[in-house]
Amino acid sequence: MTKIYIAGHRGMVGGAILRQLEARKAAGEDLDLITRTSSELDLTNQAAVHDFMQSETPDQVILAAAKVGGIVANNSYPAQFIYENLMIECNVIHQAYAAGVQRLLQLGSSCIYPKLATQPMAEDALLTGTLEPTNEPYAIAKIAGIKICESYNRQYGTDYRSVMPTNLYGPGDNFHPENSHVLPALIQRFHNAARDGTSEVVVWGSGKPMREFLHVDDMAEASLFVLGLDRAIYRRETQEMLSHINVGSGSDVTIRELAETVANATGFTGKISFDATKPDGTPRKLMDVSRLARLGWTAKIGLQEGIRETYKWFLAQERPNL
Ligand code: GDP
Repeated sequence: MTKIYIAGHRGMVGGAILRQLEARKAAGEDLDLITRTSSELDLTNQAAVHDFMQSETPDQVILAAAKVGGIVANNSYPAQFIYENLMIECNVIHQAYAAGVQRLLQLGSSCIYPKLATQPMAEDALLTGTLEPTNEPYAIAKIAGIKICESYNRQYGTDYRSVMPTNLYGPGDNFHPENSHVLPALIQRFHNAARDGTSEVVVWGSGKPMREFLHVDDMAEASLFVLGLDRAIYRRETQEMLSHINVGSGSDVTIRELAETVANATGFTGKISFDATKPDGTPRKLMDVSRLARLGWTAKIGLQEGIRETYKWFLAQERPNL
């Protein structure tokens, strides 16, 4: 029996990981899956995390709990983003170590890389330049998380790993009109327009920036793949001082192409226009996923299929009784 604690199981990625682990368990794998809601266990509380880890002593920990948000949230609550994320990482990783957890997987983000990193961004771009200022507090906390794992591995011989996903989307996403990321924001906007018969949808920026998107079910599969890798193989591929692995789809689209795909999925047939007064942000943000490909994992869910499926989920939330 393998006892796995999934921290952050109510989040988009943690939820997808839990669904896949539950499916494996239902298929006969001998798993004991442990979860706690934030009201049951406050991960920023050191004593509470200590007591929890000591009493549960899981074999493995998946750290998918974090304070996350789009550019507006990052800009408005920088203190909370840096404090809560650092506390969660320190508490969960250290108390896992103290309770004898040998293997841990931590989830990060592509925003750990410098703002002007060479594209596609490889793992060794870490700490080679200045970060994007709007999410620097969050990125610093996530970089610290990688370095905490590396340091514990070096000093204590633990086997703690980190995966850095590109932009994720899928069931459980945040569809908030201002605070969400581009893909859910466009699903919401094109859906409303198609429903109301609006003739035009306005998309922010020039439509030219390029972004990479990965379905959260692919991310969950990649996370469990990395967690399950043989230790010698993981170590051979990731050098001791650079232990994180990028996870992405390996290709990107322009925001214009994305908008057209979302329009198609939602049945919107009107005009798509661009509001150049809104910021474009970084011109391109593509992950180099060759390390993960060498280890044997590549993404499976195409963007069109993933958007169609996410839209179905979105509709089911909108109209739960249909
Ligand atoms: P980023 O990847 O960190 O830049 O974050 P976003 O997902 O917020 O934005 C990605 C790109 O999509 C930027 O060029 C935005 O200007 C563009 N975009 C177009 N329409 C929207 C929208 O409605 N919401 C958001 N968040 N971005 C949009």
